[in-house]
Amino acid sequence: MEAVTKFSPCPKAGVCGGCRYQEVPYAEQLARKEARVRRLMGRFGPVLPILGMDEPRHYRCKVQAAFGVDGRGRVISGVYQSGSHRIVAVDDCLIEDAGADRIIRAVRQLMPKCKMPAYDERRGTGFLRHVLVRVGRFTGEYMVVLVAAAPVFPGMKHFLKGLLETCPEIDTVVLNVNDRATSMVLGQRERVLYGKGWIEDEILGRRFRISPRSFYQVNPVQTQALYQTALDYAGLTGTERVLDAYCGTGTIGICASDRAAQVAGVELNRDAVRDAIANARRNGVRNCWFTCADAGEFMERSAEAGEGADVVFLDPPRAGSDARFLASILRSAPGRVVYISCNPDTLARDAAVLVRGGYRVERVQPVDLFPFTEHVETVVSLSRVER
Ligand code: SAH
Repeated sequence: MEAVTKFSPCPKAGVCGGCRYQEVPYAEQLARKEARVRRLMGRFGPVLPILGMDEPRHYRCKVQAAFGVDGRGRVISGVYQSGSHRIVAVDDCLIEDAGADRIIRAVRQLMPKCKMPAYDERRGTGFLRHVLVRVGRFTGEYMVVLVAAAPVFPGMKHFLKGLLETCPEIDTVVLNVNDRATSMVLGQRERVLYGKGWIEDEILGRRFRISPRSFYQVNPVQTQALYQTALDYAGLTGTERVLDAYCGTGTIGICASDRAAQVAGVELNRDAVRDAIANARRNGVRNCWFTCADAGEFMERSAEAGEGADVVFLDPPRAGSDARFLASILRSAPGRVVYISCNPDTLARDAAVLVRGGYRVERVQPVDLFPFTEHVETVVSLSRVER
């Protein structure tokens, strides 16, 4: 890791605000994150050394750029200045996939040649609002999503031909229409312009579909370390009934499926559930079921029906889990709980509930999924104390 301890600071760091740890050497970033997890979780059980990256740069596989015009009418692309709608021009970024940034530059350079206007937010005129590039880290597949203010794309053929000539690595191009005054990047309507309209990535030997709007961890290299830790902690032998709560597109449950008797996944977002079902089918997995529901409600119903799981994975959003879910865990009493968290504060709050209710924290593993930012991911293994 010695070679990557110091980086030249990004000239846009002050206005972008994306990398709070911009000028902090990587080893120091890791030390701070580990210390934070230890401060919050150390009282429950042993905290292991954080798993960092050998190469912490350019890990983000989901990259988006806002498009607009500068004072002289020239097309610019970059990020919104934090807390505003002023676009700061960015050409390349320390944490984004370099190939994705290259594609965004190619789009910008093609626009004047193809007479494709950028959207002007103040006037409400023009066409291209954002470009989103998603990359399959382990498959090398690239998807480009052009977010436009209108569904009609004048000169589309000419533009696509130019883009694919400059960037032959692109596998698919999708037009997304966002005609609302909103800070959401993607709109509801989509049209595939080239290729299949989605790409795939591979995690722990499984294939997962990434479509323009589906959730997929932005750092797949560290996601492998995260999931592998969670699987190790689950200690599955092939006979267990597993619950994957807050399952997103089913990635954790599908990775666990060959070591379990059956896997139930629960997730609130309907699109994610649809992707989870498709992902299970894509991987030839036959013992996973997915339900679209609130995790707490689902867990409560299962506990009432006496349909408990032997092992529960839970991977809630930053707000953490809720009283209903945690109370139902205590009631159905699975032998093992593996908690995956992106927020150590809510993790500590929820772990306290489980510990009071009869669980013991065996190990706490911080994982660095977001170098150069202050965020840290944590996996906790809890087991039920026999009484
Ligand atoms: N385990 C997945 C996704 C984790 S992100 C992965 O590793 O990719 C957290 C997920 O929880 C999101 O997909 C979000 O839609 C879902 N979620 C949020 N609140 C929920 C709730 N109350 N019940 C069920 N799922 C919920």
